[in-house]
Amino acid sequence: MQIAHIFNDNKTNNNSAFIDYQPFDTRYFENQSFKEKVVKNITDEYSKLYYEALEPISDKSIISKYDDEKLNSLVEQLGEDILMISGDFWGIQKFIFDGLNSSKAAKILRSRSAMVQLITYVVADMVKKEFAGSDMVLFGAGKFMIFASYESSYQDKLQKLQKCLDNYFLQNFFGQTGFILSSSTTTKTKVLHQSSNEMQKDLENLAKDNELKKLQKFNFLDLKDDQVCIDIFDRANSDESICPFCSKRVAKESVEGIKSCSICANQIALGSQLVKSRYLSIFADTKRSEGAIILFETGATIYQAMLFDSKEKAQQHSCKFNAKLFDISDENYTGIAKWALGSYAPSENKKIKTFDEIAKNSSGLMALKADVDRLGDIFRNYYMKSFKKFNRLSRELDFFFSSYVSKLIRQNYPNCYIVFAGGDDLYLIGEYKEVVTLAKEVREKFYNFSLQKATLSMGLVMFKPSTSIQYISSKVDEAESRAKEVASQQDGSKRNGIDIFGISMKFDEFLKIENEFAKIVTFLESKSKETTSFYFKLLQFCDMSENVAKDPQNAMWRSKLHYFFRRNISNADEDKTMCATLEALIEHYKQKLQPTLFLKIYANRDKTKGETQ
Ligand SMILES: [Zn+2]
Repeated sequence: MQIAHIFNDNKTNNNSAFIDYQPFDTRYFENQSFKEKVVKNITDEYSKLYYEALEPISDKSIISKYDDEKLNSLVEQLGEDILMISGDFWGIQKFIFDGLNSSKAAKILRSRSAMVQLITYVVADMVKKEFAGSDMVLFGAGKFMIFASYESSYQDKLQKLQKCLDNYFLQNFFGQTGFILSSSTTTKTKVLHQSSNEMQKDLENLAKDNELKKLQKFNFLDLKDDQVCIDIFDRANSDESICPFCSKRVAKESVEGIKSCSICANQIALGSQLVKSRYLSIFADTKRSEGAIILFETGATIYQAMLFDSKEKAQQHSCKFNAKLFDISDENYTGIAKWALGSYAPSENKKIKTFDEIAKNSSGLMALKADVDRLGDIFRNYYMKSFKKFNRLSRELDFFFSSYVSKLIRQNYPNCYIVFAGGDDLYLIGEYKEVVTLAKEVREKFYNFSLQKATLSMGLVMFKPSTSIQYISSKVDEAESRAKEVASQQDGSKRNGIDIFGISMKFDEFLKIENEFAKIVTFLESKSKETTSFYFKLLQFCDMSENVAKDPQNAMWRSKLHYFFRRNISNADEDKTMCATLEALIEHYKQKLQPTLFLKIYANRDKTKGETQ
């Protein structure tokens, strides 16, 4: 039996669109023969993780049995007229990075990004409760789609829910982020024959409704003054200060010895529990359970999460509270639905390390943002033509980033902190040498994973632990866009770019330069113990070589290089070829050689730091 790969189904792609994914469910594993025939014969750990969750509808089908059965039986139960309800968490970047300084960031970044997913899950659950018999067909980081039976009062119900969401986000997040519910109608016939384009118009209507609602965020006309004007100093005592994690609310609580507001305290508690727990149970109750994390409050109902390390305790809790239980680790499946929320964060004695601690003994931290090149169009195509394929692609990609990359980091990159890994992208912060090595490995693994049909582009930004996280986040976004732009200028359709130390190029080129420069490094190190000043000089020659057209004086770089080489490195005849090689490298790559030089300079600095300690 063969399992077809979704990337076999993909043709070329052009535009951009909607990206989503879905958590795993236990039903994948009920088919004994699949387990016996396929899983038993897979020896590689990663393939096991990957294939075990992708039981197909039949041999060589790329549609998962789970999606097929779920969608078919759902629309069968819902009847002919179907309501599509989509949810969209907007302002996610703000939600995660706003108001945060680096010294405190490690405690809370990871949990804020997990919180986005948990709130999305809760909102979907609230919608499902309002519409009897409804269920999710798509679910991802900050987005979902639910199918329900059509009912004439649906607009009222959605408005009521929207109002409750608006209220919550205004009260707790000052309306800087929020959740939008949009809707459109379709029919069972269209859903079952989605590929025939009949459903396309309905999906476009849904997207239009979402656009419209985005323009009318928070219907202020409907709100009372006390819901709009929030006085954060209301009930604050004169000796209380602003919370250092969000810089927005009064710090009234204390977590791990640091004062913070109640929202941040809750997020910090989630962060520290994510590091040490394997199971997460989500439930709704009228009162807060001791030790529970608050996910969402509406009227008398409090949605909360309890985290457990013991499977038995988790199962007991889930039975008692009628909760939904997830295995949030990147370990193998053991009978509980998987949702890789608890991805890796460097820790010591089960406490998350601060960025200062991560950067100890190193020249600095590096942020990395990566996403899949030109994926939007494939996603859009599947979204319009086949939810089942859309889910399969989302799931495979999400699996790569949230489970596989997370596991890779846990095993080999102890000083890399995952801010976000899922959907089709990756965002992490870590010790810079580890981040650069990881970048290369992830890029290669992804290329093979996608059957050499898709590539990643990455932005890497180096910084000191004291830099503001919001600033780094905007810098790394810019770097990632530059990487995509420059790489696509170089050879048209394909991307596969990297932007590091502010210089963009094709990833292959970056590797080639490193490889070619390695010879020079070996040579230099055989001549002198102190190579740093030589690298600094080379940085300057690269700039000159790049800018000859701007200033003819810059053409002098060649003679300066030869002079410097003879004076400071070697005047021997047999070393002349080395100087010529170096000249050719600078001539050919110009500033693109600089990132490799910077990495060498920092590596030297780290070495001397290590020696003096
Ligand atoms: Zn706060």
